[in-house]
Amino acid sequence: MTENNSTLAVKATDLTKKYTRGDSEFDAVSHVNLEVPKGDFVAIMGASGSGKSTALHLIAGLARPTSGEVEIEGKAISKMSDRELTVFRRRRMGIVFQSYNLIPHLTAEENILFPLRADGRTVDAALLERLRAFWEELDLTNQLSQYPDALSGGQQQRVALARALCAEPVALLADEPTGNLDWTSSQNICRVLDKLNKEEERTILLVTHEPAVAVWAKRIVVLRDGKIAGEFATREFRDAAELAARYQEIARASASR
Ligand code: ADP
Ligand code: MG
Repeated sequence: MTENNSTLAVKATDLTKKYTRGDSEFDAVSHVNLEVPKGDFVAIMGASGSGKSTALHLIAGLARPTSGEVEIEGKAISKMSDRELTVFRRRRMGIVFQSYNLIPHLTAEENILFPLRADGRTVDAALLERLRAFWEELDLTNQLSQYPDALSGGQQQRVALARALCAEPVALLADEPTGNLDWTSSQNICRVLDKLNKEEERTILLVTHEPAVAVWAKRIVVLRDGKIAGEFATREFRDAAELAARYQEIARASASR
């Protein structure tokens, strides 16, 4: 199903990334086609080494594909220079990693506002008020003047989320955002993502190998050996265990092909 470009936050077409291992080449990502309409919440699942991070990095424009194209809101990122892409990423994409990547000598609030400031935008009172209301929802109000090393992992990841979202990106792209967190903090982050998607219609594309995280998404795309092995909607499932079984089934079926 091909949708009008303006309703697609992300479109990847025949996306391939070759790497070398020893003296042979292999496809870390192989001919991946993916469409993420605005307002969708997609989880890319796959075993370690299946190409999840590589795919997300290509989509986020952090790496260039060997072939294929990524369009963000209909704009082909391969046509942008590295400089243009850096600016485009800062303005239109919200990226979160497993490691929170906060700047240690900046407070939580300074970290969150960093992309806006780096872009030369003035943060006026009205904008700050709007952002503060959002930080309150993220339960960060009491942490804003703290430095990262005084924050728990869950708090640091919520700061990273706030930072990724402060420029109102087309989509939130997250690579194992709960990978360093304990169960409770991980589920709290998932609850925040769910709310962002349901109440604010934020588009989310996340990568995870954990069924308990993926179950929060609307749609699962299974990656195996760099290829899409299958996809399914999560509404069919009551819980993470059922989802995990379906995921294993797809991964196994693609292995025996
Ligand atoms: P995942 O995130 O699913 O664990 P990755 O996308 O990190 O998988 O890696 C996919 C495959 O590509 C793995 O075999 C990995 O070793 C390989 N790979 C990743 N990055 C590089 C790189 N920069 N150079 C060579 N091989 C890489
Ligand atoms: Mg990875």
